Amino acid sequence: MNTQRADHVLVAGGGIAGLAVRRALHQRGIPSLTLERRGAPTDAGLAINLPGNAVRALARLGLLDALRTVGARVRRREYRTERDRLLFAVDEEAFWGVETGPHCLRRTDLLRMLQLGLTPSDIRRGAGIVAVRQIPHGAEAELEDGTIEAGGLLVGADGVHSRVRRSLFEDRGLGAAVLATQSWRFMVPNPGVEAWTLWAGAGALFLLIPVDRGEAYGWVSTSAGLDAGLDPNVLRRAFASFPRLVRDTLDVALAQPASIYHSPLEEVRLPAWTRDRVVLVGDAAHATAPVWAQGAALALEDALVLAGLVAERSDWQRIGSDYERLRRPRVAHVQAMTDQLSRTARLPSWARTIVLPVLGPRSYRATYGPLRRWDDR
Ligand SMILES: Cc1cc2nc3c(=O)[nH]c(=O)nc-3n(C[C@H](O)[C@H](O)[C@H](O)COP(=O)(O)OP(=O)(O)OC[C@H]3O[C@@H](n4cnc5c(N)ncnc54)[C@H](O)[C@@H]3O)c2cc1C
Repeated sequence: MNTQRADHVLVAGGGIAGLAVRRALHQRGIPSLTLERRGAPTDAGLAINLPGNAVRALARLGLLDALRTVGARVRRREYRTERDRLLFAVDEEAFWGVETGPHCLRRTDLLRMLQLGLTPSDIRRGAGIVAVRQIPHGAEAELEDGTIEAGGLLVGADGVHSRVRRSLFEDRGLGAAVLATQSWRFMVPNPGVEAWTLWAGAGALFLLIPVDRGEAYGWVSTSAGLDAGLDPNVLRRAFASFPRLVRDTLDVALAQPASIYHSPLEEVRLPAWTRDRVVLVGDAAHATAPVWAQGAALALEDALVLAGLVAERSDWQRIGSDYERLRRPRVAHVQAMTDQLSRTARLPSWARTIVLPVLGPRSYRATYGPLRRWDDR
């Protein structure tokens, strides 16, 4: 079957970026069809930290009230050494404002919220895309079952290993992050942290963020020879000199290895995100190590900018170049600041302990300051 409608948008992938594009198009009355490979997300039980610019983007998607009912506000950040010495703290609520301050919630809640009020008829699950082709006045996607869907514009929102990107640019642009190559994520009963708290030691990072229902979200990365997988003893050794709260929390997580989610840390850096009627958004275009937790924020902003252009232009052929012009500077800023902090994180402990109390707060302001200002039009 070949369904071709030049007036609708095909969205490849129903993750954060794809669902945000679908929602933003719906807000503007543009018909779309989202094609999602999976029946249900695999890491949706985990949480995600949303800085203030992500919360502002959610507000523009009409979801601020819904956000208030799930997860927890993140009011304060603390950066600590592996000996638990506080290097610096940030009053995040004062920085971003109370209304749109950072928020940590379960991924499943974010994905559910993005679909609030939308009808399921414009999303097809179990629809894996195998190839994408340009056609006159549009683009088409070939699915695993041989079906072909076409639209006047195709949005590649299919994540860091994007099939759409590979169809357009082969796999140029995909590489390992500077920060670390591997990380693990988990949910644990909150051991008593009240703030976003990062402990940093030699080649090892341990982050805990309070969520809700008495739980906290944990993120661990280490360069200690874990590339082959999760070895509890190697992981315990990597954090042996960290505070008791960290070690105990790690033990609680390791007691349930099936609930620990492993992700390689990969990045996408591409000179172009668009070709003719195909546009990449979110991780497919610019996956960036989660140093500043900008993945969801950039994906939500991409969606709002792209939907605005789709709604205001009658010729969709040139949308891609305008989208890139509007989005490039912001994404490039996040990439540059990610590289900068990743290099600092790799300094020897003694050097980090000296520079971070001064550089840390400056780096926070230099990164998030420009991201506080945003106009999607
Ligand atoms: C360890 C780690 C921690 C992170 N922490 C944070 C954080 O705290 N805050 C934050 O903002 N960001 C964080 N991120 C980044 C964030 O998860 C991503 O930026 C965000 O998920 C990107 O959304 P996306 O929709 O572009 O991609 P994805 O979430 O990967 O969604 C892509 C979707 O496309 C679907 N798909 C893939 N291929 C196909 C195909 N061929 N056909 C059809 N569908 C397909 C997938 O099933 C998936 O549903 C983190 C990332 C990592 C690795």
